Amino acid sequence: MSGPPTLLVATTNPGKLREIRALMSDAPVHLIGLSDIPPIAEPEETGSTFEENARLKATYYAAQSGLWTVAEDSGLVVDALGGEPGVFSARFLRPDASYGERFAEIFRRLNAQPNQSRTARFVAALASADRDHVVYETTGVVEGEIADAPKGSGGFGYDPIFFYPPYGSTLAEVSEPEKIAVAHRGVAFRKFSEWLKGLPRASEASRGER
Ligand code: IMP
Repeated sequence: MSGPPTLLVATTNPGKLREIRALMSDAPVHLIGLSDIPPIAEPEETGSTFEENARLKATYYAAQSGLWTVAEDSGLVVDALGGEPGVFSARFLRPDASYGERFAEIFRRLNAQPNQSRTARFVAALASADRDHVVYETTGVVEGEIADAPKGSGGFGYDPIFFYPPYGSTLAEVSEPEKIAVAHRGVAFRKFSEWLKGLPRASEASRGER
């Protein structure tokens, strides 16, 4: 008897990995992260959309590792900033900028146009690949607003400035289960988990059979 197939989660972001492990806890796969395998140089994220970058990362890490892989690309889209920071969320302002500096820049730009709405969304694109072959892809979105000031210490990245109206708080003020119940990565990874569970044998996904 062989165990569940191994699935590489291609992220170096500890906040994302923690959420993905919680989201995939009942999926019929054995999850490993990039820190569980010999180091692989990061690919350049050259895509102009979340979907392109997710596909690029999934196929790159699957080819480099020889493992069935799932990757996601995500970010914050602020309507009044023309969709920024978008695919540049992790590098917004400067690659080494602190989130405090990034929040200040977003507030500065929004306050310069006070009549604009503060609507925003987190978007996650997910792609799963076996070698150069994408076997599944999907997206998840959560709609919210940019808060007036950062609040809360949970989550990571832009969570302290992402106000989620149904909770009446930012996503950094709620527990991790409350965040992943509604947030973009939760939406995408739950769809992926359901797809895995529906396969006759999850190992077929790793061979690209649908
Ligand atoms: P990626 O690693 O290129 O996909 O960059 C994703 C970036 O988007 C992260 O480094 C954060 O800046 C931001 N981001 C994505 N998901 C979240 C989230 O759930 N909360 C806060 N920020 C997020």
